[in-house]
Amino acid sequence: MGPRSGRGSGAKAAGRATGGKPSRRAEWDRLSREIRACRKCPLGSLRTHAVVYRGGLSPRVVFVGEAPGAEEDRTGLPFVGRSGRLLDRAVATLGLTEGEFGVLNLLKCRPPQNRFDRASARTCRPYLDRQLELLRPEIVVTLGARALTAFDPLSLRMLAAAGHPRSGAEPAHFPLIHPAAALRSRRMHDRWEADLRTLGRWLVERAA
Ligand code: URA
Repeated sequence: MGPRSGRGSGAKAAGRATGGKPSRRAEWDRLSREIRACRKCPLGSLRTHAVVYRGGLSPRVVFVGEAPGAEEDRTGLPFVGRSGRLLDRAVATLGLTEGEFGVLNLLKCRPPQNRFDRASARTCRPYLDRQLELLRPEIVVTLGARALTAFDPLSLRMLAAAGHPRSGAEPAHFPLIHPAAALRSRRMHDRWEADLRTLGRWLVERAA
């Protein structure tokens, strides 16, 4: 799915070319088509839909998850199951409007039994990098340990890192536990909420 809204979206922007260079929207659409047609790893022939992105084309914050699950594979949209509903509530709590955030995954295709596939993640990585180059978010929020280590390979354990902003990193990022973990126990849900409050304060400070 391509971006649904945001600055620069829409048919006009999609067709625009600047000085012979394709517009960012046109580049985005080309990249999204490439991902949807990808067969570079075995997951490409197992999926129903590749899951590209949902959100604005100029988001302030991009949330990065691990891999599509069954609902995502069925719909082609990231985070639309139970974890996605929790994430959407978090986004609303943070006061981010539709064009101000985006959601994507490290892996674009669902792995069998939802078992994260490292080799496929390495193959898929250039797609993530190109997506972020085009989206240029101010902040990346990593969801879970795999997303965290994709941005910070030497990172501390998930629970030690979660809730601690990395302002100096490029891109600046903020680790959260995965929403699926927050749904598993009261203790982890409390941790999710506490870290979200920290994220909210950090976003306000950065905007000041
Ligand atoms: N979990 C993820 O990491 N990504 C999704 O899109 C859904 C669930």
